[in-house]
Amino acid sequence: VSDLALFGGARAVPRGVGSVSWPVLLPEDEQAVFRVLSGGRLVSTADGEVEVPGLESEWAAYVGTAHCAAVASGTAALQLALAALGIGPGDEVVVPALSMNATALAVMHQGAVPVFADIEPDTFCLDPAALAAAVGPRTAAILPVHLHGLPADMAAIGRVADARGLPVVEDAAQSHGAVYRGRRTGDLGIAGCFSLHPSKNLPTCGEGGLITTSSAELDGAVRRLRVFGEDLMANRARDYVAQVRGWNHKISPIQAAMARTQLARLGEYGERREAGIRHLLDRLRELPGIRVPHVPADRSHVWHILRFRFIPEEMGLDGVPVSAVRRALHRILRAEGVPVSRYQQVPLPAQPAFAVPDTTAGERFPVTCAVLDDSLCLQRRHLNPGSGPALRAYADGFVKVWEHLDVVGRIARSLGPVPTGAAT
Ligand SMILES: *Cc1c(COP(=O)(O)O)cnc(C)c1O
Repeated sequence: VSDLALFGGARAVPRGVGSVSWPVLLPEDEQAVFRVLSGGRLVSTADGEVEVPGLESEWAAYVGTAHCAAVASGTAALQLALAALGIGPGDEVVVPALSMNATALAVMHQGAVPVFADIEPDTFCLDPAALAAAVGPRTAAILPVHLHGLPADMAAIGRVADARGLPVVEDAAQSHGAVYRGRRTGDLGIAGCFSLHPSKNLPTCGEGGLITTSSAELDGAVRRLRVFGEDLMANRARDYVAQVRGWNHKISPIQAAMARTQLARLGEYGERREAGIRHLLDRLRELPGIRVPHVPADRSHVWHILRFRFIPEEMGLDGVPVSAVRRALHRILRAEGVPVSRYQQVPLPAQPAFAVPDTTAGERFPVTCAVLDDSLCLQRRHLNPGSGPALRAYADGFVKVWEHLDVVGRIARSLGPVPTGAAT
C-alpha cells in the first residue's frame, strides 16, 4: 500500500505552503494606482500625463534601447510592431510551433500568414535549422519567442535573417530582463515586444504591453499606430487627423503606474527567485528520468515557466508510452500539492485558428509534439520571491513520487497514451 496522497496519504506539500500568490502587491503599488485616480489624468493622451512616458523611458533604459512605446497588451505590441514594419497580406512570418497563440494571432491580424517552424529540444525555442527551412520567397519577417524566459539563439537566427535581409521581431512577453551574450531581450532584434499581463514576470493590474526598438523611425510608426494613426505633437493641440489606418491600442496610465512600481523591484525579485529555483532544479536533477530546463552558457533564464521533460526508460518504465507517464505524473503530483500543469496542449499549427485542418503536425513538428507529450510545467507561483519554502516542498513532492515509480507505471498503463498533438 502506498502513502501517495492520491490514495489518501498525507500531502507532500502541506496546504498553505504551496499557494504563493503573484503578483506581489505592496503599498507602493496601491499608492501608484491611487495617484493616477486622484490626479485625474485617466488616459495617456491627457495633458500633463506622466506615467506612460515615465514607464517608457524607464523600460528603454532597463533594456538598453533608445526607444520604448507602451501599448494596450503584449498582443497589441506584436501586432503594432509587425504593422509598423509594413507586414501585410501576401507576407509570411516564421513563428515557432510552440508558443502562446498570440504570437501567431498577431501575424494573422495583419492579414499575413504564420509559417511554423519546429523548436529545439532543450531550449524549447525556435530551431535555427528549421527556421532556415521555413524561409521562402514570401517570408517578410521572423518572430522568435524567448519561451519560458530563456532567450532564443538570436545569433543563429540573425544569420538566417541577414542572409535574406529579413527583420527579426522578438516576442519577449515571457523574458523581461533575460540576457543573451551581454544584451537584454528586447535589444536583440529590430523590435522587442513585452507583455505586462499579471501572469508575466513584470506584471501590472490588468493588461499592458511594451515595444522596444533602437529605430526612431519604427518607434514613431508604432506611436502613430497605437493612437488611431494620428500624429500627436508635444506642443500642439491634438488634431484628430488619422494619417494611417491605426488602432486604439493605448495603455492606461493606471497600468503604466503600477508597472513602474513593479519595475523598481524586477531585478531584486529576479535575484531572490533564482536561489529557490536553483535549489529545486538541483534536487530534481538527481532523480532518474527528469530533464530540468537547460540554460546555454551564453544566456540567462528568467524562469517565467519551468518545464520538465520525462524519460520513461530512465525511470524504469520501459515500454510505457511517455504521454501516459506524463498523465499519471500530472495526477499524482497534483494530489501531493505540486501544482504542475500543461503549458500549451497542442502545437500552434494544430490550433483551428491557424490551420487548414492539419493532422500531420506530429510529423512536421516532431520536437514540439514530443515536448508537449512528455513534459509538465510549473507556472506563476514560483515567481513570488518568497516562494522558496513552496519550491522546497515541491521538490519533496517529486522525490516522494519518485519513490513510487512502480505505482506511476501502473497508473500510466491504465490511463494509456494520448494521440500525438492531441489536447488532454
Ligand atoms: C502572454 C504572451 C503574449 C501575449 O501577451 P498579452 O499581454 O497577454 O496580450 C504573447 N506571446 C507570448 C509568448 C506570451 O506568453
